[in-house]
Amino acid sequence: MTALLAEPVVGTRARPQLQVDLAAIAGNTRLLADRSGGALMAVVKADGFGHGAGRVARTALRNGASWLGVTSIDEALALRLEGIDAPMLSWLNTPDADFGAAIAAGVDVAVPSRAHLAAVVAAAARTSRAARVHLHLDVGMARDGAAPADWSRLCHAARRAEVAGTVRVVGVMGHLARADRPGHPANGVARERFAWGIAVARRHGLRPPLRHLAATAATLTDPLSRHTLCRVGAGLVGIDPTGTTPLRPAMTLTAPVVSVRDVPAGTPVGYGHTWVADRATRLALLPLGYADGLPRSASGRAEVLLRGCRRPVVGTISMDQVVVDVGSLTVRPGEVATVFGPGDTGEPTAAEWALWSGTIEHEIVTGIGSRVAR
Ligand SMILES: *Cc1c(COP(=O)(O)O)cnc(C)c1O
Repeated sequence: MTALLAEPVVGTRARPQLQVDLAAIAGNTRLLADRSGGALMAVVKADGFGHGAGRVARTALRNGASWLGVTSIDEALALRLEGIDAPMLSWLNTPDADFGAAIAAGVDVAVPSRAHLAAVVAAAARTSRAARVHLHLDVGMARDGAAPADWSRLCHAARRAEVAGTVRVVGVMGHLARADRPGHPANGVARERFAWGIAVARRHGLRPPLRHLAATAATLTDPLSRHTLCRVGAGLVGIDPTGTTPLRPAMTLTAPVVSVRDVPAGTPVGYGHTWVADRATRLALLPLGYADGLPRSASGRAEVLLRGCRRPVVGTISMDQVVVDVGSLTVRPGEVATVFGPGDTGEPTAAEWALWSGTIEHEIVTGIGSRVAR
C-alpha cells in the first residue's frame, strides 16, 4: 500500500471510464427549454445518446423538459420500469410492435402509415383503452413518416378511429433534414409542408394540440419551426449541430495507462507498422480501442491528454488498445489519460474525435462500448 501511495499517480482507476456531468445536462436543458418557447421533449433514445437514458431523462425533467422521446417501445417501457412516469412518445416501431404494451404503459406512439394505424387500433380495441397517437408526416427526408401523397388518407383513417374511440390524435410531427444549416431553403420547404400537413389534418376534423417539428438544431436557430413542442436530444448532452450556441459537453472518457516502454528510433508500432518512431521515445498503452468506440479511422490523427499534455495516438487503433507517444513525459502505469471531455483542461473533445474520424459527435458519444465502466 505504501509503495502504491508513493507513486506519483494522477488517478488509480483500473478501467476505462465514462463520466457524465449531470450539471451540464441540467444547464443545457434549461437553455433549450428557454429557446423552445413551448414544451420541451427530452429525446433519450440510444441510451440517452450514450449518457444513460434514465439519468438524462430525470435530469432533463427536473430542468424544464416535460416530455420524453424515444425510438422503440422497448426503450419507453425500460424508462417506465425505472419509475419514470412523464409523458412519453415512441416514434419508430414496426406495425407488429407491441402497441398494447405501449397503451397499457401510457406511452404515446407515432403513426407513420395506415398499416401502423391499423395495428394501433387493433391493440387499443384489445386493451379497451384509447391509444394516444402522433401522426408523423415526412416533410422532406424520405425516411420515417407518411409520404405527402398518403397523408390525407392517413388523416381520414385516423379521424375515423378517433370517432370510433380507439385512438386520440394528440399530435402531428415532422423532422427536418437540414436544420443544421439555418437559412437553407430546404428548411422553408419543410416548414411549409408541415403547415400543409396540419391544415389537412384539421380539414379531416383532427385537432392535435401538439405540433412538433424542431429537434436541437431548429430549436436553437429557427423560431418558425418550434410550434408547440421541441424534441431535443443532442443538445441536452452538449452537442450543437449548428455551431451557434455554447452548450456544455456532458461526457468525459478516461482510461488508465496499462504499461509504459522506452523505445529506440526506428521502432514500428502496431498493426501494419503504420507509424515508426523517428526518435527515441516513450510509449504508453491504453486499454481501449475501436470495440470501445474509438473510431479506427481516427488513427494517425487522434490525441489524448496525459499529465496535462496533449499527446498523439500512434499506429493503428486496435480493437482493444491504443498506443500513445508520450515523448519525454514521465508517465506511470495506472495514471489516467483523458480521451475526450468538455475541453476545460486541454483534453480533446468528442467534436475533435469526430473531426479526426470523419464523423459527427453524435456517433462518437453513442458509440462507447459496454466494456467501459459507467
Ligand atoms: C433523434 C431525433 C430527434 C432528436 O434530434 P436531435 O438533433 O438529437 O435533437 C428528434 N426527432 C426525431 C424523429 C429523431 O429521430
